[in-house]
Amino acid sequence: MALDRLDDLYRDAILEHRRNPRNANKLEDFNTTGNAVNPFCGDEIHLQLKQDGQGRVIAVGLQGEGCSINQASGSMLTEAIRGKNPQEIRTLADWVRKMMRGDPEAESHLRSEGDIPNLIGVREYPVRIKCALLPWSALDDALSKTPHESNSSRT
Ligand code: ZN
Repeated sequence: MALDRLDDLYRDAILEHRRNPRNANKLEDFNTTGNAVNPFCGDEIHLQLKQDGQGRVIAVGLQGEGCSINQASGSMLTEAIRGKNPQEIRTLADWVRKMMRGDPEAESHLRSEGDIPNLIGVREYPVRIKCALLPWSALDDALSKTPHESNSSRT
């Protein structure tokens, strides 16, 4: 399995997120949701976002099933998007995709985005790149929907 052959540094970060997924609780109060499924490997991501009046993410919930890379990427995503508005999130997602495609500039753009740069190790294993990017597809899905008013008052 690919994960065994990842460099220790990358593998440790991925396994740590797999064991302790961040923001895994399902949000009851949210503005939009996103879903993504990869039927070929059984990976699934379900995401809820709560945004403030400017669209800035103030809470995120992400539940997933599937392989470690998928789960870890989702966990890292939830940490990185908090506090960002939709435009900042799209820029971030763009750089993540560029990193997975091998863009040499991407790593420096992602250096301040928590554990995300650790996903760079996954690109040695092209079949797993889809696993790493699935949570980002769920995020696209969430942002592409017109956010409805959340069921609690906005501040
Ligand atoms: Zn997978």
